[in-house]
Amino acid sequence: MNSYRLLKSLKLRIFIVMMVIGILPCLAVGACVLLNYERRAVFEKTVDTTNRCRAMANHIVELGYSSESDNSEISEELNQLSEFLSARVLVVDSDYRVIFDTYSMSVGKTLISKEIVDCFTEGVSASNRDRKNQFIEMTVPVTDNTGEGSVIGVMVTSVPATSISDSLAVLKRQTSIFEITMAIFVFVISLVLSQFLIRPFDKISRAIGSVREGFDMDPISIPDYLETEAITNAFNSMMKRMKKVDDSRETFVANVSHELKTPLASMKVLSDSILSSEDVPVETYREFMVDIGDEVDRENKIINDLLSLVKMDRNADTLNTELCNINELVEKILKMVRPIAQSSNIEITLESAREVNAEVDRTKFSLAIMNLVENAVKYNKNGGWVKVRIDADHQLFTVEISDSGVGIPKDSLDHIFERFYRVDKSHSREIGGTGLGLSIARSAILLHRGAVKAESREGEGAVFTVRVPIKSAAGT
Ligand code: ADP
Repeated sequence: MNSYRLLKSLKLRIFIVMMVIGILPCLAVGACVLLNYERRAVFEKTVDTTNRCRAMANHIVELGYSSESDNSEISEELNQLSEFLSARVLVVDSDYRVIFDTYSMSVGKTLISKEIVDCFTEGVSASNRDRKNQFIEMTVPVTDNTGEGSVIGVMVTSVPATSISDSLAVLKRQTSIFEITMAIFVFVISLVLSQFLIRPFDKISRAIGSVREGFDMDPISIPDYLETEAITNAFNSMMKRMKKVDDSRETFVANVSHELKTPLASMKVLSDSILSSEDVPVETYREFMVDIGDEVDRENKIINDLLSLVKMDRNADTLNTELCNINELVEKILKMVRPIAQSSNIEITLESAREVNAEVDRTKFSLAIMNLVENAVKYNKNGGWVKVRIDADHQLFTVEISDSGVGIPKDSLDHIFERFYRVDKSHSREIGGTGLGLSIARSAILLHRGAVKAESREGEGAVFTVRVPIKSAAGT
């Protein structure tokens, strides 16, 4: 599995998110603790040392501080302070000359820094931390006590900050141990939880995987999460739909086999009966051969209808639409059917409410109308009529085919569009029906995104209404 595919794993994503949520706050808290401790420790040390230095600055003025005099008492006091703070204490006079140094190294030298200059000019204390050499330097003004309050010297104190660094190192070690412990804990929890949270999805894939053949399975139910419930519900309804499709496919195959076998069986019976009898007159031969020819025609018609149906079963992309004059197209169909109608004295009339030009597949649409008109003639009475009416609004056009025929019983109306369904099975042979005509018509109309509906009362004729969009929706 490559790394991109691995990243698509929900388990891994849950694991990563939990690790991040668990570990990031620990690291942030650790860093905050260390930073705050350091700031606090430096602040306290600075404040404490500055206060002591201020007190000492006042004291040395009282002891007669002057840049000229070499006051041993002051030296003594400064040494004591230096020892107490473990710090180096220097005093700089207004000429930036070091006049006291508890390390006695810089006496007489010039010492200038920004903090010392600020101390002289503005009389403010300052502190500066030298991280590299680990000490804090503080400057405190030595102020004249004669009333003017002018700065006559600056006390510079360097306190080592190693104790702070040492404590910080200890604290760092402790927070690292805490962070590592937390990381291990969060790792284990994330591992277990990601495994646990993902389990219902594993259950689903196992359940789906166990559906090997057929669609006759019990519905899957994994109600652990709303999401898994939704997935299993969708899967169950898909299986239901597939079962329906599978059932109708099985029925269709059974019907096809039956329908194709019937004419063959008749031909076999006819030929056997001729062969088994001797001295058969030529007229009987002729009669039987005509019957066999009829059965061949019937077989041929069934096969042709099946082929039309199979072609129709594709999607709307297979439509070859063009702008057609529907009135002319229907008139052509009626012309073809009229001779058959005339043999039963059936009158066919066309009523066009308006001229209709629509985008249709000429062949498939004609096939649909042809089947409907043929039915209106086939299932009609001698001397009856068939009326075809064309109308349209701005979106759809309508072709209505009504007849004065035998009509369709109420309980059959819902089934007549099913494949191989025939109302009167006993007469269908003499009428010449295959039971596929209306299925073909409906498939062709559906391909055009249209609809066909049938209305009828038994004995009072039937009305078939076809409604199709004027503008083709094929390919959209
Ligand atoms: P068939 O090839 O048998 O005509 P169809 O699918 O065209 O098959 O029609 C199915 C059944 O619907 C027919 O067998 C017939 O009983 C009924 N039917 C269809 N059209 C009409 C109609 N105009 N009047 C009465 N019955 C009809």
